[in-house]
Amino acid sequence: MNGISQLEEERISGSEKQVVKPEPIHAPLPNRKEGPPEIITDYAVYSAGKRDFGQTIPSLERLESAGRMPEVLVGDSHYVSGPLLSAARSRGVELLSPAGRGNLPKDLVGRDQFVFSETTGDMLECPQGHAPIGHMLRTSDKGRKHSRHVKLDRERCSPCPLRGRCVARPPNSGKGHWHLDICRDLRLRDANLAAQGTDSWKKRYRIRSGIEATNSELKRRHGLGKLRVRRRPNLRLAVAAKLTACNVKRWLSAV
Ligand code: SF4
Repeated sequence: MNGISQLEEERISGSEKQVVKPEPIHAPLPNRKEGPPEIITDYAVYSAGKRDFGQTIPSLERLESAGRMPEVLVGDSHYVSGPLLSAARSRGVELLSPAGRGNLPKDLVGRDQFVFSETTGDMLECPQGHAPIGHMLRTSDKGRKHSRHVKLDRERCSPCPLRGRCVARPPNSGKGHWHLDICRDLRLRDANLAAQGTDSWKKRYRIRSGIEATNSELKRRHGLGKLRVRRRPNLRLAVAAKLTACNVKRWLSAV
């Protein structure tokens, strides 16, 4: 994510006093870099006891209200899931993050390998070229809302050489036809899983590690790791001031 993911706020508000050596105000500007400056456009301040899961959409909302909506948002695996891919896409943003595989095999035959109608969203063919028996609404898990599924002929799926790798599943009872949830979230998740194994995706994703240099710069050069203020409003102000200073410094080193 282009921002700070976690700050040591709780530790700062504890009883332990921390002595910080201020950076001299005449610290030299960093060497001039080629290309446009890398500007911090979003950040969030919250307790160190809170995990940074679930920050993708709040971050996009802040960026949208500030008129800085990105075309691509790069994050680590905590920032992506089928619903998040779908929510980002509906805002016109590509989420470039590696989705977790869970128990899925590495050589998964995912929904990206099935053929779908672009107009109706119906599944037309499975990777073995078989048409489904039909479409229906059902739930995959308890508590989940209904989504579109396809019914697949068990006479074809049971002996299929791709069974075990294919996302299509037999019914829990072991009897009846196989089925597959074809909701948009899962189709996007499978497409993401397939893409993230390619060299071109990995090359694009390399930029993600750049945020670590920014985090390090903010901590070491701007003292963000050891703030000398207490209470959340003061903390927010101190963080905003340090990030602004970092941005100004980067602008100056670019002109
Ligand atoms: S397991 Fe069934 S749905 Fe999957 S590829 Fe084989 S025949 Fe098609």
